Amino acid sequence: MTLLDVENLKVTYTTEDDTVHAVNDVSFSIDEGVNYGLAGESGSGKSTIAEALLGLLPGNGTVERGKITFNGRDITSLSDTERRDMLWEDIAYIPQSAMDSLDPVMSTGDQIIQAIQAHRSVSDEKARSRVEELFEIVGLDPDRIDDYPHEFSGGMRQRVTIAMALALEPDLIIADEPTTGLDVIVQDKIIDKILEIQERMDSSLLLITHEIGVIAETCDELSILYGGKVMEQGSVDNVLVNPTNPYTMGLKNSFPEIDGSNEDAVAIPGSPPNLNHEPTACVFKDRCPFATDECGDSHPDLVSLPNRNHRSACHHVDKAAQMRRDAKNPET
Ligand code: ATP
Ligand code: MG
Repeated sequence: MTLLDVENLKVTYTTEDDTVHAVNDVSFSIDEGVNYGLAGESGSGKSTIAEALLGLLPGNGTVERGKITFNGRDITSLSDTERRDMLWEDIAYIPQSAMDSLDPVMSTGDQIIQAIQAHRSVSDEKARSRVEELFEIVGLDPDRIDDYPHEFSGGMRQRVTIAMALALEPDLIIADEPTTGLDVIVQDKIIDKILEIQERMDSSLLLITHEIGVIAETCDELSILYGGKVMEQGSVDNVLVNPTNPYTMGLKNSFPEIDGSNEDAVAIPGSPPNLNHEPTACVFKDRCPFATDECGDSHPDLVSLPNRNHRSACHHVDKAAQMRRDAKNPET
């Protein structure tokens, strides 16, 4: 069963002198029980997608187009109240930099209690014991629920935000860069914790991160974003083991640990595309080592490849095998 379905989502931001085409015709769907990854470098539109799904775009952001259904229900035009209820009951959201957005003058436990009581009529006592239970679940000492955010380390604060998001046992957990800014060992622990909880609650996961290594370890399927476009999409096995898109190949080379085939991480040279106009060429053209004249004519469609659950947007998708070999052994 499809849990979340996103069709042709287009989001723009209006700035003083421009329109930013942040998310451009993005489609993907997440089945029940699936862990889904959204990957792409900074500015590719990951957080914008999450915020658009949840109706949490900033004031200058607009969903221009697109249909979003959750559990079969169209959630594109919910009222504020319906949306707030959905956000807690059905979808848990751990926003980017969540650990820095805890209220510094309220104890962590009280913040979670307040969140629970905003949605369920439970007594203070019951809410408090639920918070203790949640602290235990995320690996925090339940005796510390009266501590304030500054009394916790970054990793512990992130656990608090996870506990808060999980309070009502949602069907889908959306976690935006849940481990960024934490040291590697803590990162692993947080990811393990999210997975453990998610399995226990039988919920699906939408994991947003620029680190495809993390997605390779935790997700079943993914979309690779660049300049607001999905460049490649499908099962982790297909996309990350046999990428057909030069952007994915480049990303993979920046994370050599995925298949161990590259000793040194190489960043993709160049800078992200200008989003101030609709793309008239492949959005990756300026940085793509395999670009030809044809790539300047239009942005390629995302097309299905013969193997199941694999789609790619590249004018030269038929030369993918050759490009993979060349990408691994650049001449320079
Ligand atoms: P990161 O990895 O840095 O979190 P991201 O993939 O989440 O990046 P978004 O935050 O979704 O990227 O941003 C997508 C694009 O939209 C970027 O070019 C960004 O500068 C632009 N953008 C985001 N928020 C706004 C805003 N409020 N006003 C104008 N432009 C914005
Ligand atoms: Mg982001």
